[in-house]
Amino acid sequence: MSVLPSRRSIRELVFDSVIAHHDKRPAARWRHPEGDGGEEGADDEEVGVWEEEEGAMELVQLGAQRTKNVLILMSDTGGGHRASAEAIRDAFHLEFGDEYKVFVKDVCKEHAGWPINDMERSYKFMVKHVQLWKVAFHSTSPRWVHCFYLAAIAAFYAKKVEAGLKKYKPDIIISVHPLMQHIPLCVLKWQNLQKRVVFVTVITDLNTCHPTWFHANVNRCYCPSEEVARRAELDGLLPSQIRVFGLPIRPSFCRAIISKANLRVELELDPHLPAVLLMGGGDGMGPVKKTAMALGESLYDRSQRKPIGQLIVICGRNQTLRSALQLIQWKIPVKIWGFERHMEKWMGACDCIITKAGPGTIAEALIRGLPIILNDFIPGQEVGNVPYVVGNGAGVFCKSSKETAKLVARWFGPDSAGLKEMSQCALKLSQPEAVFDIVKDIHELAQEQGPMSRISYTIASSFSQGP
Ligand code: UDP
Repeated sequence: MSVLPSRRSIRELVFDSVIAHHDKRPAARWRHPEGDGGEEGADDEEVGVWEEEEGAMELVQLGAQRTKNVLILMSDTGGGHRASAEAIRDAFHLEFGDEYKVFVKDVCKEHAGWPINDMERSYKFMVKHVQLWKVAFHSTSPRWVHCFYLAAIAAFYAKKVEAGLKKYKPDIIISVHPLMQHIPLCVLKWQNLQKRVVFVTVITDLNTCHPTWFHANVNRCYCPSEEVARRAELDGLLPSQIRVFGLPIRPSFCRAIISKANLRVELELDPHLPAVLLMGGGDGMGPVKKTAMALGESLYDRSQRKPIGQLIVICGRNQTLRSALQLIQWKIPVKIWGFERHMEKWMGACDCIITKAGPGTIAEALIRGLPIILNDFIPGQEVGNVPYVVGNGAGVFCKSSKETAKLVARWFGPDSAGLKEMSQCALKLSQPEAVFDIVKDIHELAQEQGPMSRISYTIASSFSQGP
């Protein structure tokens, strides 16, 4: 006999603990917490299922063409979650214009308390002390561990997260973070809104993702690869919940593409020298400085006293790295930047990329047909990205900065054919349409949900009913 509580019973425990934690609420008509709303909040006249009165929830929307609110839940742990969230927001706008109003928010940071309002700092600290992150990742992987942990957090913060959700009155909630489904789904269940609000997860890890991504109560779970879909099924999700379209990448990577030559002019790069892009995710992680210095040597032809390539280093939010690199005297043309908004331009202007195995950067580089040298990975979620790239012939894994620099020099010299071949493999593996497939599928789900705006109904608050 199993001593572990079943999945359902743990979820029930989450729910019970939340209900038990809060007293019955006074009957109150909910108002926008920031008065009239303003730019950030959803408009008050556009209320959907989130209006509440006398201990009851009432839908007061009239008119079939109401703009639907989409709330994308993310966190700035790394740069990939925000990039995916922005990709989905932009694709909604391109595909459906004003039909949807999209908010990209870290509701936990804005509304909850420690530790979930401080995930960015804790994550940064742990991935810097990589053994700590390894332990945290693997020790929280068993379901009973993370379900109990999230139950405890939900008990404290579900009410605050509920306030956060109400601020945006979402018709559709999209989670692009592994810790952004349990508590919001708990709130929806608590408010009897599970059948009214579409909730989907968009997984942003390519392979070895953390099991907290998988939640049985989502309408859809978008997996970026077949391997992640397999893991989702093993974790109990139904095939009808799973779709595999690829990782959502900002539409600017696959729409309105400018030629390499024009980009080089725009970015003030040398028009003729081959270019290597060096980065380490949104936080500029990995052996960026060492690799940059090694490239400074390998891309300089001593016999001819001239550079054979140019280097672009994007340090992301790592200001220390940027300042350190700016102090170096370079023999080759080098550009050093901080957090760049137009990664599609830098990738479009370069011939190959060196990066840690971040899924966002990898998927973007594939779309641009850039051969990838992976020089590091975060244990846990990024381990599987290495075989994903290398096994598909789109790049290599090389931990040594000197070897990496030598390989780039070969690609820019005698082995240009090798570079071309890898570029073809990268393009073959890319999924530029993924973000559009995802938003179209979410749109269909919302349509299936029925004409919400026509329905006028009252449902009793679960506070007054009990669980
Ligand atoms: N990024 C960006 N500007 C920068 C550095 C990074 O927009 O200056 C983006 C990059 O294009 C990618 C994301 O940040 O979309 C990094 O995601 P990834 O999954 O590669 O790594 P993470 O930072 O999440 O560990």
